[in-house]
Amino acid sequence: MREPLAALGTSVFAEMTALAQRTGAINLGQGFPDTDGPEVLLRVAAEAMRSGHNQYPPLNGVAPLREAIAEQRLADYGTGYDPDAEVVVTAGATEGVTAAICALAGPGDEVLYFDPGYDSYPPAIALAGATPRTVPLRPVDGRFTFDPADLAAAIGPRTRVIVVNTPHNPTGTVFTRAELDHIAWACLRHGLVAITDEVYEHLTYDGVAHVPLASRPGMSERTLVVSSAGKAFNATGWKVGWVCGPEHLVRAVRTVKQYLTFASGTPFQHAVAAALRERDDWLATLTARLTTARDLMVDALTGSGWRCYACEGTYFLQADAVELGYPDGTELCLDLAYRGGVVAIPSAALHADPRDGAELVRIAFCKAPEVVETAAQRLVSFTTVPRLRGKGAR
Ligand code: PMP
Ligand code: GLN
Repeated sequence: MREPLAALGTSVFAEMTALAQRTGAINLGQGFPDTDGPEVLLRVAAEAMRSGHNQYPPLNGVAPLREAIAEQRLADYGTGYDPDAEVVVTAGATEGVTAAICALAGPGDEVLYFDPGYDSYPPAIALAGATPRTVPLRPVDGRFTFDPADLAAAIGPRTRVIVVNTPHNPTGTVFTRAELDHIAWACLRHGLVAITDEVYEHLTYDGVAHVPLASRPGMSERTLVVSSAGKAFNATGWKVGWVCGPEHLVRAVRTVKQYLTFASGTPFQHAVAAALRERDDWLATLTARLTTARDLMVDALTGSGWRCYACEGTYFLQADAVELGYPDGTELCLDLAYRGGVVAIPSAALHADPRDGAELVRIAFCKAPEVVETAAQRLVSFTTVPRLRGKGAR
């Protein structure tokens, strides 16, 4: 296999899900819900299959979905897109991000992303033949953010693209307007195109609002927005995502996408269109449930000596393994799976250099209330076993 792809190995999500299956532990590693999405989603998918929507959809995606996406972006954020020319449906956000990176960057170009970051970004940059550059996210008063000086320092003459994920996996940070304006300013000053990964756009808590970078002044014409139905509608296995942006950039994404998958998931596209149109009640219930799950988990963890970082959005919260006496997050995750009956992810796997974030673990709380409760109890008893206290316990 050609370098640098040979170095990629197996994704941490596949590994940790296999560990959960092997040990019978509760899987709070890979981020996927264990309950179904809204009734309308399931009903319309079944109806679409029964009424013959089973062949290739158009390369762009079916018209009702593109229209529903454009309406949602306008209603939620005030950003307008032409559903025919400025929206393309993809096989999940993963394909959207990969096609966008491949469309915009090639050998000799640099692509920036915030570190830690979602695990598909470095391979997508490698597939494009481009070079990754990172901007560190570090905790300030328990919330992960970046230093604008680090952002400025990471940009060079060959930087073409910046990938911006907010709400952010794995830190749970939702970028503020001020943070986004630092990014926007860098894009405008250096002529960068932004690819925004907004798959958790609807999953924010405590009144924190998701603000798309494309809604900041000067940014809509240089931003490709990527999002997905997986997280919004508890349908991660459907892999229905999309990309919106100015016509010339979306055309470039479409050109790449047609030779990756061409198109996918016709009946699911129809169902997501219907769910997007009727999203309000479902999303209110979903975010209320996720807030309760997060609070239960944070209370249980902090009550038994864990240190948790702020979680403003997403499915995830991060906690510190070293404070519990473990050398790093990987050691904690292994012990936790075998003895504690819970699988989490060592956050190091989502860092460009695994030494960064070595002390952190990521815990997904997107599960049914009884599962979250059982997992929280297990985490408490695991932590309060006396021999695990103190450094070098293992
Ligand atoms: N980006 C981020 C930040 C994610 O957490 C995920 C995982 N859902 C994806 C992209 C992939 O989304 P999809 O399943 O729609 O491809
Ligand atoms: N987005 C999910 C997570 O961060 C996993 C997606 C995957 O398994 N590739 O846990």
